[in-house]
Amino acid sequence: MDDNTKTDTTTDTAESLTTTAPKVPDEYKDKLTEEQYNICFLKGTEPPFSGKYTDNHEEGVYYCVVCGQPLFSSTTKFDSQTGWPSFYEEAQKGNVKFAEDNSFFMKRIEVMCNNCGAHLGHVFDDGPQPSGKRYCINSLALNFIPKEKKEEIKELK
Ligand SMILES: [Zn+2]
Repeated sequence: MDDNTKTDTTTDTAESLTTTAPKVPDEYKDKLTEEQYNICFLKGTEPPFSGKYTDNHEEGVYYCVVCGQPLFSSTTKFDSQTGWPSFYEEAQKGNVKFAEDNSFFMKRIEVMCNNCGAHLGHVFDDGPQPSGKRYCINSLALNFIPKEKKEEIKELK
């Protein structure tokens, strides 16, 4: 028998957690694609007219792709011609939060999910009435669920 293995049980096992990436709970990180991760946690932007929801005119709700919080409704979506899904209002007050973003020599207001902190896009002051706001949001940060499908899910429960 080897006795050395018994004596060597000091606390050398604590792993140093030196991650430079933003704090993302593993449960979220695992289910995101690399593109989604780049947008939501590295504050990337998808190329204009590349997103799958830019021309989506179906009725339904847009949820946070990371945590599933409802963010925007199709009733406030409008065609901004910018190449990104655009809304003039959030689905519910307080579901998104804002931060000043001075990157790329621009002064913009960043829009984030208020629940998980995922970066969604930016908000501008040139939107239509009644709000005058234009939420310019990345498709990749959203998960759209059409109205009919939602009702189907409810009925199954
Ligand atoms: Zn979220």
